[in-house]
Amino acid sequence: MMIVIMKKAATPSQLTNVVAHIERMGCQAHISSGEERTLVGIIGNGRPFDAEHLEQMAGVEKTMPVTRPFKRASREFHPHDTLVTIGEAVVGGDGIVLIAGPCAVESREQMSEIGRAVKEAGAQMLRGGAYKPRTSPYSFQGLGEEGLKILGRVREETGLPVVTEVMQPELVPLVTSYADVLQVGARNMQNFALLHAVGQAQRPVLLKRGMMSTMEELLMAAEYILSHGNDRVILCERGIRTFESYTRNTLDINAVPLLKGLTHLPVIVDPSHGTGKRELVEPVSRAAIAAGADGLIVEVHHRPEEAVSDGAQSLRPEGFARLSESVAAIAAAVGRRM
Ligand code: PEP
Ligand code: MN
Repeated sequence: MMIVIMKKAATPSQLTNVVAHIERMGCQAHISSGEERTLVGIIGNGRPFDAEHLEQMAGVEKTMPVTRPFKRASREFHPHDTLVTIGEAVVGGDGIVLIAGPCAVESREQMSEIGRAVKEAGAQMLRGGAYKPRTSPYSFQGLGEEGLKILGRVREETGLPVVTEVMQPELVPLVTSYADVLQVGARNMQNFALLHAVGQAQRPVLLKRGMMSTMEELLMAAEYILSHGNDRVILCERGIRTFESYTRNTLDINAVPLLKGLTHLPVIVDPSHGTGKRELVEPVSRAAIAAGADGLIVEVHHRPEEAVSDGAQSLRPEGFARLSESVAAIAAAVGRRM
């Protein structure tokens, strides 16, 4: 695994020669053109690559080994931020993106009501699970395809793109036909068959950190998706398991600046699952944006006491409107906009 740094004055034909050489050696070349110079990442075939020959080629400044186990996901490989565009929303740029909606799709009325309210408060995307990964088999499992249909209708009604979870590789085509973003949940972060399937889908993927996963495992999971051909991956910190029991999870704020340094992929935070408590959602959201997150995914319900899942961590629409305003102030303070 190596990176070839081209000279500033390298010509397009010298670049073509370098790429051709890499491919002749049975490897893949991954070009990343910056303002200053072009980098060529080499994705190997497991065998060592002859750096000396490359360094003697016209237009090549030097080569560098890639030290990280993740390649396509790493900043070494791809120094510039990746922007993921979904409708009018751009995740990973100057703007902070808010994704909001209930934990689960419950009915058309519920989704319409919440969708309209969160849009009004500044959300750029709508969330809602049609397939729910529940700890108990006796808990509500989601409306399935009926839920996807509701999401499709509310997307038309509000104009908000829809983010929804897919749990099985076989369902990726169906979910893709309704959703704008495919969510891979924390419990499925290392479901490699699922990562493979969403890697082949024509949709951006929101990849949530497993509740017991390290940064490197998260980035290697992203690497699976990228390596199957989908480069539109958004990472999400959603809290990890610790000994603390006052909160559902411990939101790992370190993950935000750490990931922003290690990878070019956008990073968002889920303060709802990260805390499990409604009253903590707004302050933790502010912290996430202050730490450099590119957006938030927040659970909102118009009647949290009646929600079929995660009512205790769901904001009411008014609470979400307050969050949106208060996060905008933090965004401005750190040079971002909403
Ligand atoms: C969700 O977003 O509704 C969800 C189930 O989250 P996680 O996978 O992070 O637990
Ligand atoms: Mn939930």
